[in-house]
Amino acid sequence: MAILVTRSSWTSSSSAPRLFNLLHIYNRSSLLCTFRHNSTAATAAAAAEVPEPRKSQIQILRTLAEVRSWRRDQLIKGQTVGFVPTMGALHAGHLRLVQSSMRMNDATIVSIFVNPSQFAPTEDLASYPRDFDADVEQLAAQVDDDRQVDVVFAPSVEEIYPNGIPLDVAEQKGAFVTVHGLSEQLEGRIRPQFFRGVATVVSKLLNIVSPDRVYFGQKDIQQTVVVKRLVQDLCYGSVVHVVPTARDDNGLALSSRNAYLTDQTRQDAAVIYKALQNALMVYRQNTSAEKIIGAVVSSIAEKFDKDDIEYVCVNDKDTLEELEVVQPLKGAIVSVAVRVPNKFGSKTRLIDNILL
Ligand code: AMP
Repeated sequence: MAILVTRSSWTSSSSAPRLFNLLHIYNRSSLLCTFRHNSTAATAAAAAEVPEPRKSQIQILRTLAEVRSWRRDQLIKGQTVGFVPTMGALHAGHLRLVQSSMRMNDATIVSIFVNPSQFAPTEDLASYPRDFDADVEQLAAQVDDDRQVDVVFAPSVEEIYPNGIPLDVAEQKGAFVTVHGLSEQLEGRIRPQFFRGVATVVSKLLNIVSPDRVYFGQKDIQQTVVVKRLVQDLCYGSVVHVVPTARDDNGLALSSRNAYLTDQTRQDAAVIYKALQNALMVYRQNTSAEKIIGAVVSSIAEKFDKDDIEYVCVNDKDTLEELEVVQPLKGAIVSVAVRVPNKFGSKTRLIDNILL
């Protein structure tokens, strides 16, 4: 059961495009960076009193060959490797994945790569938020006992797509990965090339890194379902871990695209999580998807235009089949996508979900 308002296109933020490959001050070769968490110049006397903050050493790797060589070394040393794929503009949600990896593995590698193939030509690839230095600094601050982030893999677009990657699918040539049956509904209905792009880049990254464990956020729940199936069907050896959604104090799910929102919209967007919690309350009384969806729609409509609710759906957790009734022993996913006003005078899509 779903409500769906289909739009032929949605405009993304219109902020000035920033150039993709001019994002960082690091050179293209492998670089060992040392970050201090507190960089104030302490006097010798103060340094004697205050213990030196822990230092994290992160290798910035740019090429497949460098990552493969590092991975081989971990294998020889008998170290387990956890991998967190990201598109950067890191926030506490990403860091939650990183912390899970650090807890469960001897070594952790984080990729920062804004993947062109998951963006449609009308979407916000050029203006997607990027701040490589701030990302590396945040990762360097993640130190847990003797664990740290060991490697940031930040490849160029050419490294991942050596034959080029036009955004128009019709012009793309070469090998791409599609997870049929799980990519066409929900987000896939609104963004038809999105999961093909995701599955393709995740396949490439898993082939390069070959991690023991790979971490994804529940925030993008359909992505977790697609990736689990991809890993199973293409016989990857990595175990997929799904980490719960990190939220602002008001309940808004953290997202790199929240940077596009005005303060007012950020406050108003708290209604999305409230609506999902209402769904949970309704479900405890009534397992009808129609009732659950109705509760979500009417809550969100308190703050946003009903026409801007792209979908509210109740789906099976594994097959993403739309449900009429939720079986309490199986549960379900309730997911929502809403277009909310942003600071550029257009709309930004926010997605969220809850498990019943
Ligand atoms: P992205 O950089 O948006 O591609 O996200 C990288 C990973 O971080 C994905 O697995 C996301 O699901 C996950 N992620 C993003 N936001 C959150 C959040 N608020 N809580 C938990 N995980 C998140």
